[in-house]
Amino acid sequence: MKLKSLTISGFKSFADKTKIDFFEGITGIVGPNGSGKSNIIEALQWVLGEQSAKNLRGGKMNDVIFAGSQTRSPLNRAEVELVLDNSDRFLAIATDEVAITRRIYRNGDSEYLINHNRVRLRDISDLFIDTGLGKESFSIISQGKVEAIFNSKPLDRRMYIEEVAGVLKYKKEKQQAENKLVDTTAHLERLNDIVIELR
Ligand code: ATP
Repeated sequence: MKLKSLTISGFKSFADKTKIDFFEGITGIVGPNGSGKSNIIEALQWVLGEQSAKNLRGGKMNDVIFAGSQTRSPLNRAEVELVLDNSDRFLAIATDEVAITRRIYRNGDSEYLINHNRVRLRDISDLFIDTGLGKESFSIISQGKVEAIFNSKPLDRRMYIEEVAGVLKYKKEKQQAENKLVDTTAHLERLNDIVIELR
């Protein structure tokens, strides 16, 4: 699986639609201070499902929408689309390319799409969990993250290791199964009460 392109529109300093193509080898992004290099990385983080505005250097999530400049009015919508090469079927989708899109509107509404079909945030998280591109993975290391990992609490550090080792997915599935068990036990208890009442 490789990144093919990232298209940013109305996100942070990118008022106009901007497409970045990734070719074979390493891609470096260079530019003067404040020109938007970190915003590109944050666009990548955001489209992969980042839910913390703080991690994107904002106060609330719709702060990612272009807020206007001296010459341009603010916009009402931000959109980022990431296209991945999936010809090796690394992601569990039967298409050679996978397009992940996220949109947010000023009123707070959000949309997530996989291959241009509306999905839930959870579908995006499930698609990337344990692929190394997950929210808690090491694939995006922001300034200060190395220090944060060293200074993190043992439990948080364990989460990073679990993501790398690929066990996070099973832990989530276990949690879901345990929740279902609790629900089923409650239903059984209610049924037992009814049986006792009917005797
Ligand atoms: P440095 O090299 O100093 O780290 P950089 O190239 O990484 O800089 P960024 O931090 O990505 O630059 O971009 C900062 C710019 O993005 C600032 O000029 C800031 O005003 C602008 N910016 C951030 N959020 C928004 C927004 N919502 N609307 C408009 N501009 C924004």
